[in-house]
Amino acid sequence: MRINKIEAIVLKDEQLKEKDKIISLFTREFGLITANAKGKKWGSRLERGSIIQSLVYHRRGFTLIDCELSWIPANIYKDLGLWCKASLILESVYKAVLPGEKNLQLYELLTKSLKLLDELRPAETICLSFLVKVVGISGYYPVYNKCQRCSSRRTHGYLSYSDGGYVCSNCYPSSGLALLSINDFAMLDMLNSIDLNDINDSFCINKNLFNAVINYYENVFENMLYSTKVMEQIKR
Ligand SMILES: [Zn+2]
Repeated sequence: MRINKIEAIVLKDEQLKEKDKIISLFTREFGLITANAKGKKWGSRLERGSIIQSLVYHRRGFTLIDCELSWIPANIYKDLGLWCKASLILESVYKAVLPGEKNLQLYELLTKSLKLLDELRPAETICLSFLVKVVGISGYYPVYNKCQRCSSRRTHGYLSYSDGGYVCSNCYPSSGLALLSINDFAMLDMLNSIDLNDINDSFCINKNLFNAVINYYENVFENMLYSTKVMEQIKR
């Protein structure tokens, strides 16, 4: 029997009975874990997006024995638009990592992005930069210095999801791609390399680029990001 005290971010929670939940936590020590949380009134301690100090029993699976709140995204909880973006960030981590795979870089990035969103920093840009960085950290960053099919040099052109980068107008496939401008490609690089702290209101993200990043993510991780559907419904 092993009991560990670990810091974790609540990615997902599923209520089973009044006092029982199944929760997905992203942790420093073990990466993504799923834990049974039984027999307590957990109240707000296990809400998605909060950071907890947890006591977990580890034998085959994980059981949450107890936890203390270490940080809650108070402003995010009060604002539906912000909550949607935070949800997208949390969902994107859940779907990009394998259980038990430790990823400190992603852990730090996730805590930082949630805290910046909660400080009411530019939410859409932070959210998009986060997604681009998740793709990059996972080794799927698109290659676009040249066409992935014929090696011709990049002008404006297509981001092909299945080719993993730029394809020229002679080679582009019939589906699974977005037409991006030179500026969009430059913006992608910027979103990947910038420190999230340095994002300010001057960044202008167009819808085409936003959708291209979402589609690219969904393609490489072979998973839908359902939070984007909720975002669209709210905008209507
Ligand atoms: Zn080509």
